[in-house]
Formats: sequence, structure tokens, C-alpha cells
Amino acid sequence: MSRKDIVVLGAGMVGTSAALHLVQRGHSVLLLDREPPGRETSYGNAGIIQREAVEPYAFPRAWRSLLSAALQSGNDVRYHICALPALVPRLAAYWNNSSPKHYVQIANDYASLIAHSVTEHAHLIREAGASDLVAEEGYLAAYRTPEALSLAVKRAERIELEHGVRHQLLDTDALGRAEPGLIRPMAGAVHWLDPWRVRDPGELVNRYARLFERRGGQFLREGVVAAKPTANGWSVKTDSGEVQANHVVVALGPWASRLIQPLGYHLPLFVKRGYHRHYSEGSALSMPLFDAESGFVLAPTAQGMRLTTGVEFANFESPPTPVQLLKAESAARQIVKLSRPVESLPWYGWRPCTVDMKPVIGRAPKHKCLWFNFGHGHQGFTLGPASGRLLADLIDGQQPYLDPKPFAPDRF
Ligand SMILES: Cc1cc2nc3c(=O)[nH]c(=O)nc-3n(C[C@H](O)[C@H](O)[C@H](O)COP(=O)(O)OP(=O)(O)OC[C@H]3O[C@@H](n4cnc5c(N)ncnc54)[C@H](O)[C@@H]3O)c2cc1C
Repeated sequence: MSRKDIVVLGAGMVGTSAALHLVQRGHSVLLLDREPPGRETSYGNAGIIQREAVEPYAFPRAWRSLLSAALQSGNDVRYHICALPALVPRLAAYWNNSSPKHYVQIANDYASLIAHSVTEHAHLIREAGASDLVAEEGYLAAYRTPEALSLAVKRAERIELEHGVRHQLLDTDALGRAEPGLIRPMAGAVHWLDPWRVRDPGELVNRYARLFERRGGQFLREGVVAAKPTANGWSVKTDSGEVQANHVVVALGPWASRLIQPLGYHLPLFVKRGYHRHYSEGSALSMPLFDAESGFVLAPTAQGMRLTTGVEFANFESPPTPVQLLKAESAARQIVKLSRPVESLPWYGWRPCTVDMKPVIGRAPKHKCLWFNFGHGHQGFTLGPASGRLLADLIDGQQPYLDPKPFAPDRF
């Protein structure tokens, strides 16, 4: 294969969007993945382009939430005991970064990237001819108790004031009218108006990959084994050979550590597992509904109603334990009619996380022409295009369209 300017490793939402930005700027780009584009985490998510997620998912600090997580009595957090020893240093740093002292700045940084999430997707959706997959109608954060609703409304009002992200409050009756498929009255909902929802998240990545190819990029389905610097660039070893390039972009999501550790990078990354399952019939919802007190999202997708779960801390290799999914299913059946599951076994994947909740975007500190773009946690589907544009600015040595320092790999 002829030498490329840039090889992008990983064709999830993050890698595919970066590859697309780079090819649009005239580079010869090869995108490598062992799977077709968008078949891993970027397939299995809830499909919400979360413009409202200006505050990243913090470690719970209120004693009530902590106790609930420790006792696994709620449904938003679960853990395997055997995963904890290796995770303790990461969780301690995550806890520390979630303190008010650090979190305010982290959220400001995060908001600067999230602010571009919908607009950057919008360009790509238009160019990729993918508007049939997208609904620009927001989603519902619904609450069962008036106390939880009232707290959520206060937070939504603050976020609207500080960040201009719009919401509407729906009381019990208004929510019932908006979603006649609900079989039990809820206290109400915050309808976030600015997020978009995607009916088939994996297919959106695939459309971006097809656009990338139409623009002259090349996608190859190959497993990546290692990358090593050479006299004039990089050599990437794959399952079937070697590829030479001037630059390498690592966009391997949850698997990034495996490639960068042999190069001497021990970044504080970790993963949070999540599950989903589809239900083909039942009462329809018109838009995704997040039932915060029960820890699930129910989203209408091309494959059926997709039920997604919260966070499970587990080792990569340990077999699935879909306890949260079963609890979520029984809680979901209290508010909507659900048919039998489509799949015999639930899907599961990993959110690629960092201890400061911010993605890692920019030049690798110890090597020339090695670039990182991973660690997008709970919002990688949202942030792929905005991160890809920032990375392309940095590789091209242009004035970046937003301040890259908060996301720089050398911050750890
Ligand atoms: C249940 C759940 C719900 C979620 N809901 C949302 C949501 O509504 N909105 C949102 O914004 N985010 C959501 N997320 C988070 C989001 O899905 C992730 O942050 C995002 O998909 C990460 O994208 P990525 O491209 O970094 O990783 P991935 O999509 O996992 O891509 C990494 C790619 O690297 C490839 N790869 C790995 N190792 C190798 C190798 N050795 N050789 C070749 N290829 C390799 C994989 O095949 C994969 O395609 C959710 C996550 C979960 C689990």
C-alpha cells in the first residue's frame, strides 16, 4: 500500500469523524478498524447528541448517592468486587476531580467543546445525506417524584441561564399528552430542546465513513497490533502487514491503552460498562426518555425500543452480568408496555473514561506526529465531530477553533 499522510486507528464515531475532517483538508488518510465502522461503543449507545451535557458525569459526592452506589441499591452504578483493586487509584482521582474545587473548571472546559456538538454534527449529517436518521426534537428527563423533578428543574434553569441550552418543563398532564404511550403518570419531565436524537447511531458512523470514502479516504478492515516510530514517520503493524504513514491518530476508544502503553504512555484511563437491549413492540415513545430515578434511557431506534443502562465497573475480560438491565426492564415496564426482548442476550460495551472527565485530544507528548483522540466517556457519540475538527486544526498547525489546552494529553 502506498504511504499515507495520516493513519487513523479506530472507526468509531471519534475516529471516523477525525478521519473525515482530515480528508476534507486534502490529506491522504487511511482509517483502520477490525470491525466495519461504528460497530462497537458507537453502535450501542442511546443515540443522543447531548448538547445539554455541559457538565460531565461526576463521581457522586452526596452521602446518599455514595451509600446507594456502595450498597448497589440504586440502578445507576454497579460494580464487580474483583474489578475494584485495580480501579481504586483511578476512582480516587475521579472523586477528587469531582470536588467543587476542581469540577467548576472541568465543567467550563467541557462546555467549550459540547457547545459545538450539534453544529459540528449538523454539517456532517447534511454532507453525508443522513438527515433521515436524525430527529431534532430533544429528549425527556422524566421524574417519578415531585422532589426529584423540582431539583432537576432548578438545575435545568441554571444550565439554561449559564449556557443558553433550552428546556421546557412538562408537568404530569403535559408529559402524558406529549407521550400518550406512558401507562403510569409521572411527576413530570424536563424536556431538553436542543439535543438531537439518532435512530441508528452505528449507521450514522457508517454514513460518515461512506462520505469519508467519497472524499478520497480509504477504509481498511484490519486489526491493529502495534505502532512504532520510524526514521521518517510511523509504521503500523496490522493483522496482515504493515502500513507506513507520516502521522498516526489513536482513536481506539476503550482500547486506546493497549496501543499506547507499549509506547510509554500510562494515562489515567478506565472504562465504564453499559448494556442495552431492544424490544420490538409495545407502547411507543416519540423521543428518548431518561428515567433518572431508575437509571435507564429508553430510546426509539431503528432496531426497536432500546433500553440502555447506567454504569458497571467490571474488568474488560469478565463475562456480562446484566443485573442493571433486568432491573431497568422491570422499572421500564412500570411506565410503558414493552414486548419480549428482541435479542436473547443483551449487548454490552465500554464508555472510555478519563479521571478528569475530559477527552484526550492533541499531540502525544513523547513522540513526533503521534496524535491522541480518545477518552470521551459518556458523550463520545456527541463529541466525535467537534473533537475531530479540533484535532485536524492541531495536526494542520492552524489556529484551533477552540482552546485545546484543557484537552491536551500532557495535562496528566
Ligand atoms: C449504554 C451506553 C449509552 C451511551 N449513550 C450515549 C449517548 O446517548 N450519547 C453520547 O454522546 N454517548 C453515549 N455513550 C458513550 C459513547 O457511546 C462513547 O463515548 C463513544 O461511542 C466512544 O466512541 P469511540 O469512537 O471513542 O469508541 P468506539 O466506538 O468503541 O470505537 C473504537 C473503535 O476501535 C476499534 N478497535 C479497538 N481495538 C482495535 C484494534 N486492535 N484494531 C483495530 N480496531 C480496533 C473498535 O473496533 C472500535 O470500532 C453511551 C455509551 C454506552 C455504553
